[in-house]
Amino acid sequence: MDIAKLTIGEIRSGLKAKRFSAKELAGQALQFAEAENPKTNAYLRLCPERAMQAAEKVDAAIAEGKGAGLLAGVPVAVKDVILTEGLVSTCGSKLLERYVPPYNATAVERLEAAGGLVLGKTNCDEFAMGSSNENSAYGPVRNPVDLERVPGGSSGGPAAVVAQGTAVVSLGSDTGGSIRQPASFCGVVGVTPTYGRVSRYGLVAFASSLDHIGPFGRNVEDAALLLQVTAGRDPMDSTSAFAPVPDYLAEMEKPVKGMKIGLPKEYFAGLARETGDLVMAAVDQLKKLGCEVVEVSLPHTDYAISCYYIICTAEASSNLARYDGVRYTTRSEKGETLIDMYRATRGEGFGAECKRRIMLGTYVLSAGYYDAYYLKAQRVRNLIARDFSQAFEKVDALITPVSPFPAFKLGEKMADPMEMYLSDIYTITGDLAGIPCMSVPCGVTGTGLPVGMQILANHFAEPTMFRLARAYERAVQ
Ligand code: GLN
Repeated sequence: MDIAKLTIGEIRSGLKAKRFSAKELAGQALQFAEAENPKTNAYLRLCPERAMQAAEKVDAAIAEGKGAGLLAGVPVAVKDVILTEGLVSTCGSKLLERYVPPYNATAVERLEAAGGLVLGKTNCDEFAMGSSNENSAYGPVRNPVDLERVPGGSSGGPAAVVAQGTAVVSLGSDTGGSIRQPASFCGVVGVTPTYGRVSRYGLVAFASSLDHIGPFGRNVEDAALLLQVTAGRDPMDSTSAFAPVPDYLAEMEKPVKGMKIGLPKEYFAGLARETGDLVMAAVDQLKKLGCEVVEVSLPHTDYAISCYYIICTAEASSNLARYDGVRYTTRSEKGETLIDMYRATRGEGFGAECKRRIMLGTYVLSAGYYDAYYLKAQRVRNLIARDFSQAFEKVDALITPVSPFPAFKLGEKMADPMEMYLSDIYTITGDLAGIPCMSVPCGVTGTGLPVGMQILANHFAEPTMFRLARAYERAVQ
């Protein structure tokens, strides 16, 4: 068994044929992760006891002839903004260095109930703010494909562990592209489901109206399986959807012949030539499979970045107000008065990007500016969402690049926040509209850097998205 390349299907058949036990698998996976992690810094901590206990349960269930669950024995990594009971969850921030959550996120609860083995927690940008994983208080993550380059962000850790083979699948979060952009940079599959499809209970809030939990996998099926297990109504998150969860695996095998794909013209201007060529080659492949391709327009695309950085900073300034040194956070020793203590705690604890966003968000919400910025951004958000609904009246799905360029060098964009923000120009719109979208690897550049194509579908049309992704994957394998 090649631990770095295992798929969920191989684990299922291996356990069934008794080629290995879940415990043996967990032991090997942990050993491999421990040995390989120093290269990338993708895991912040492993949790061998938790993984071994879960593996024992899987082995016991199999021995008793009971169903062991859809993720039986599957090593999973979890982004550190997703809470794990009894296991430190820092969110990539110094402020939460010692925070031990008293409960599990619903997604974690469900994946463990399905037999998944949580191997550890992964690195990420502080409170999921960033596009390169360089905003982590625990050092950057290196891209396993090229260690001099970033893995993307903010879910750099979850993408890197799957690419590196130190986990089979992982859970990340996406507010403006944080699953799809790192998936494309690392050459793995990353899925941002419809808003409300996966409960946000236990996902530390960055921008609540935009936050999603979603899976990474080395192929479409593995990512879809992790979504299958984690999706569905949860009374602990009032925005979680009641819609029943389809059988994604069965859906994705349906033919794509006759499906109509739209290419939004606004998404193909100003991107690196090789990126554009690879995405267009993937579109040609889908044409060969019988899809019809038409050009469409999403006219409000130009406003997406401004709109996103007003809404997300406004919500972040409110969500991050709770880190005051009283309840969860590491408290600063400095300061005579309560206000001084707040100031010192937040001043020492937050990194530069969080501070920038708290200030920006506080400003756009302040009296006299609220209407001009926040309210206006909400209206623009509606126009962006309407562009998509109108497009989905004509086509089944949209295809675009994920990022205008492949993985960049560590440090390359740190000096210029605007330049960094631009890497999410094609992913932010999907979050603003709340529609499902994913990144599927579609080849590598001349220098071997992975490129992802983005597939977007209408609300709750994950089956349509997976069908196209799976058909493409099968055709190029
Ligand atoms: N890179 C974007 C940002 O910095 C998106 C982050 C995310 O999706 N969590 O806000």
